[in-house]
Amino acid sequence: MEKHIVKVLSTHMVTHNVKQFDLEKPDGYKFIPGQATDVSINKPGLEDDLHPFTFTSLNDWKDLQFTIKIYTDHDGMTNKLQNVNAGDELIIHDVWGAINYKGPGLFIAGGAGVTPFIAILRQLHEEGKLKDCKLLFANKSSKDIILREEFENILGQGFINILDSSDDRNIMEDHIDKQLLGIYATREMEYYYVCGPDKFTEDMVRYLKELGIAESRIVTEQ
Ligand SMILES: Cc1cc2nc3c(=O)[nH]c(=O)nc-3n(C[C@H](O)[C@H](O)[C@H](O)COP(=O)(O)OP(=O)(O)OC[C@H]3O[C@@H](n4cnc5c(N)ncnc54)[C@H](O)[C@@H]3O)c2cc1C
Repeated sequence: MEKHIVKVLSTHMVTHNVKQFDLEKPDGYKFIPGQATDVSINKPGLEDDLHPFTFTSLNDWKDLQFTIKIYTDHDGMTNKLQNVNAGDELIIHDVWGAINYKGPGLFIAGGAGVTPFIAILRQLHEEGKLKDCKLLFANKSSKDIILREEFENILGQGFINILDSSDDRNIMEDHIDKQLLGIYATREMEYYYVCGPDKFTEDMVRYLKELGIAESRIVTEQ
């Protein structure tokens, strides 16, 4: 198994509980948008506690980036990442699977499930190919929306937020169900990418199938 100790260059919070880590990139380390690796903290006793995270940087960037939701309700790995900052080290491993981009379509994300889409949409933006893509992003409240400004800038009208409870009059308070998905599952949408908590993914895939979308056009984490 590949193993690289990488230095944290900088960190900052992108929402109240999502932290971005910019890291040194090992020479020759390559990945494609949507891929992930197993990560641990290079501190005594934590080196073997591996957790998967998706790259939110692009392969041609000088540095690596992860965008990580911190769970403070128990003392897991992400809680410990609160105290990992510039100068500390993480350990990264082989690059693997996750979400595979096949062509333009509707990206449906629940909370931190948006991370594979960050890299994919950034890449498409860089290549000028975002025109036929939309992001449907479900969150609890507006303070949970990851990279809102960036998505508004690159996707414009193609960035659709849905909140459980809306404190922002520009954002719809709703729940993504079959009826709502049906509005966005238009003929132009070639593929449907789904990523989020297990229950969210199961529900979205079921609704899409009920709307008559063929399984071959639905892409989930591998
Ligand atoms: C391919 C892949 C890519 C991923 N990429 C990303 C990414 O880019 N960014 C990102 O933020 N996440 C990503 N994840 C999810 C991430 O791996 C997990 O959130 C992380 O491993 C959680 O680690 P943890 O030790 O903090 O929590 P875990 O202990 O693994 O717990 C995770 C969940 O269980 C709950 N939980 C577990 N035990 C308790 C307890 N005792 N009390 C209360 N609640 C509890 C937590 O609240 C949380 O909801 C990815 C997952 C996969 C499979």
